[in-house]
Amino acid sequence: MDLDPHLKMIIDRYATYTGSDPRRAPAVLLTIAFVESAFGAWHIKGGIGQLSNALQTRCQDLGVKFEFNSRVTEITVDHDRTKGIVIKDKTFIASDLVVANADAEHVYNNLISKNVKSARYEREKLRRSTKSLSGFSLLLGLDNSRGKNVELAHHNVFFPQNYDNEFEDVFNRKIPVDDPTIYICAPKDDSMVKSVNKESWFVLVNAPRHEPDSGWDWQQNGDIYAKKILNKLDGLGMNVSPRLEFLKYRTPADLENYAMAPGGSIYGTSSNSAASAFLRARNRSKTKGLFCVGGSAHPGGGLPLVGISAEIVANCIGKA
Ligand SMILES: Cc1cc2nc3c(=O)[nH]c(=O)nc-3n(C[C@H](O)[C@H](O)[C@H](O)COP(=O)(O)OP(=O)(O)OC[C@H]3O[C@@H](n4cnc5c(N)ncnc54)[C@H](O)[C@@H]3O)c2cc1C
Repeated sequence: MDLDPHLKMIIDRYATYTGSDPRRAPAVLLTIAFVESAFGAWHIKGGIGQLSNALQTRCQDLGVKFEFNSRVTEITVDHDRTKGIVIKDKTFIASDLVVANADAEHVYNNLISKNVKSARYEREKLRRSTKSLSGFSLLLGLDNSRGKNVELAHHNVFFPQNYDNEFEDVFNRKIPVDDPTIYICAPKDDSMVKSVNKESWFVLVNAPRHEPDSGWDWQQNGDIYAKKILNKLDGLGMNVSPRLEFLKYRTPADLENYAMAPGGSIYGTSSNSAASAFLRARNRSKTKGLFCVGGSAHPGGGLPLVGISAEIVANCIGKA
């Protein structure tokens, strides 16, 4: 049966929400379309960062102590049992329970010693998995007094002529997408703009991971790619360039640096096969006392699943 090409593009889009290639991902990912149409899309006033702020406040009310800007450089394990963590290469904090929210690849390959036998199984699983795609994003501040604005919805997706080419570029050719699908979030939220007549947009396109040795090196030419996306937006009639007041772009290499996600993978591993779910990091590690939570652990990436991951781990550990 020939499927309407526009419907095909919309259907293909959902697999990318898990960092996967729609030509290979299981059809079950289409349930996201049902969730979106049945329950709608929701916006938190002030942006998604407000969720972190609310969580922080709630945790502090419950007595949680935060140590910000403190990189964990080791998860200390002795006889396959967690003993604590080391921060900034010098301060040891003892604990027989460690919940790791960092990317599982970072946890098992960088934070736990290669000699820990109980970590070998997870390392091997992660090695066999296909990594999720990454993203190139632009944060735009627009001043509508400089040019005519365009009415947009909150969520907007602009598809290219040839959607398959995007997945060839991202997963096979491993090059920045020449004619990418462009997602624009244009919130109509006064608390997210500097003043009246201004807009703040989040623009995202799918991108290959940062792999200087075997794929694309995103440490270079990010500015050229950002310009290319701006030109495409202008070509789509968005009239961005004359209104542009602020621009910040983030490449997959930036993502790798600030979120410590190897290659800048957005969702840890992809769902590019029916077996992918089983290659994701377990919540309860074989290393006793270690729990993995978040986008690269079971059940997967994206905020809803990350919340479920946290619930599973909280239930595994139980009340203090
Ligand atoms: C551009 C972009 C767009 C996205 N869009 C959506 C979307 O529309 N909807 C959706 O549901 N999801 C989206 N996601 C995915 C979503 O953001 C992730 O699935 C989610 O943030 C993962 O949560 P997490 O807690 O596992 O990891 P993170 O949010 O990455 O948090 C992990 C934290 O651990 C810190 N960390 C890592 N290693 C260390 C260390 N050694 N020491 C100390 N700290 C460390 C990192 O700095 C980071 O702050 C998007 C992601 C990106 C990058």
